Amino acid sequence: MGPVTTLRDPSVLIIGAGATGMLAMIRLRDAGVSDITIVEKADRVGGTWRENTYPGVACDIPSHHYCYTFEPARWQFQCAKGPELQDYMEHVGEKYGVTENVRFNTTVTSIVYGDGDGDGDGDGDGDGDGEPEGDGQARSDGRRRRWTVRTDRGDTFRVDFVIAATGILHHPKFPRIPGLADFAGDTWHTARWRHDVDLDGRRIGVIGTGSTAHQLIPELVDAGHDVHVFQRTAQWVFPFPNWGFPEWLRERWRRKPRRMGKWKWFYRHFIEQFFVKATIGRPVQNFLLRAATRAHLRFGIRDPKLRKKLTPSYGIGCKRIVVNTTFYPAIQAPNAHLVTEGIRRVEDKGIRLESGELVPLDVLVLATGFHNFNYMRPMEVVGRGGHTIEDSWGDGRYRALRGILLPHFPNFFLMLGPGTPIGNNSVIGMSEVQMDFALQLIERWRRGDVDAIEPTPEAVERFTAYLKAGLGSTVWNGGCQSWYQDADGQPVIFPYSWAEFVDSMAEVKPGELRSD
Ligand code: NAP
Repeated sequence: MGPVTTLRDPSVLIIGAGATGMLAMIRLRDAGVSDITIVEKADRVGGTWRENTYPGVACDIPSHHYCYTFEPARWQFQCAKGPELQDYMEHVGEKYGVTENVRFNTTVTSIVYGDGDGDGDGDGDGDGDGEPEGDGQARSDGRRRRWTVRTDRGDTFRVDFVIAATGILHHPKFPRIPGLADFAGDTWHTARWRHDVDLDGRRIGVIGTGSTAHQLIPELVDAGHDVHVFQRTAQWVFPFPNWGFPEWLRERWRRKPRRMGKWKWFYRHFIEQFFVKATIGRPVQNFLLRAATRAHLRFGIRDPKLRKKLTPSYGIGCKRIVVNTTFYPAIQAPNAHLVTEGIRRVEDKGIRLESGELVPLDVLVLATGFHNFNYMRPMEVVGRGGHTIEDSWGDGRYRALRGILLPHFPNFFLMLGPGTPIGNNSVIGMSEVQMDFALQLIERWRRGDVDAIEPTPEAVERFTAYLKAGLGSTVWNGGCQSWYQDADGQPVIFPYSWAEFVDSMAEVKPGELRSD
């Protein structure tokens, strides 16, 4: 019999109880980690699907693929609508014992490597002598350094690992349009939908024509409202109808859940073999993507003048491609008006265009997107040696090793971080792959092979160069501005196939982690 190895039991704090945070908790527990804290700023699990409740909100990835591998669901629609997804998240939270363990209504305000005195040495006195601070816990390893996590409710946690599962797009971006504050009607951002406002008989303006607006506008138009759509940049729209699954099929899935596996297989392959490959520039798939999108525009919009206004001037897929079949019919309805002229300012009665014309409005909806790559910010993040996240990212260039490891931030995993393949695939699938990678590293820590898991700056540079090298043939270099881009206009995205992403996350390579 070989020697018996006792694994260390790490304490782990997860920030966020959205799809990724819940996954992290479930997978850590499966791996035998028992000391897990999960903190959530809101009062429910669900992340994106809790926050976005605008009319028409839905996923644009087929739901059999956009769900956890361990929890298939009998989806009502090919691409589930927001409420169904939120129900799913809550169901998973209950079933897997996540929800009962979440500290809700708690915002993490700072995470500091060490004892929280800001010098990152872990000694508690700020003098950098590296002596462990006495937090009352017996430590077999004496010099074990931890993260000190503080919240707006006055909690202080000292933990071995932090997993930031804070999402990518969660801080609404309010446009800097002069006079916005002067508007006399109601105004709000799509991610803060005002369900208390009655829209009947009111003239509605929607600024923005991204994925959100394409889902929202048909709902407003179909409900009979008078809607002005203010478009700054046209979007390419890939037609993917959102069929409902018939009840007999859903009943069959209930009786034979294994049959759902075939659907997942089909959608997964459709996304990986068609969509992902089209975006990374594989000729056949890219041709089909372009042909379908152009045909949708050509035959979906009858009036050539309107079609011209809706025709983008950049390559297909450069901005995140919109997946939709309801917007084109809606924008041709008599109660919908597409405005492509620039906005001069907002006034109390409506929007003044560059030409001087006033578009009178009662309600102004801002479908203007999110601050990209905010991740865990604005919380204070201080790593080893007092290095802050602003030191790393203040120049607007986001870097990480394999999307989740950051230099100067040991034992810290940023889920869906820079370099994750966020273009048109399931973020739940990405999180599952990244969590396997994180668990592999945590396992090394548990065996005592390593105390601080941190990438070398050289490894991050190499990984960044590897990403950059792959971007040339992708659609994201198609001459547009998009939220995928960093301060240099470089897309912060994994530009290779899904298989290559999975391969790249199989294990950390020699020399990628600091060894001191
Ligand atoms: P978005 O794609 O960033 O679109 C924002 C829109 O607002 C753009 O049309 C933008 O115009 C416009 N805009 C911003 N500032 C403006 C200003 N000052 N004046 C005029 N127009 C302005 O945001 P989003 O539609 O909320 O979507 C964000 C992302 O969320 C999507 O790309 C997608 O990844 C995700 N999403 C996913 C789903 C889903 O089904 N899975 C649904 C909705 C959203 P410009 O293009 O000119 O900048």
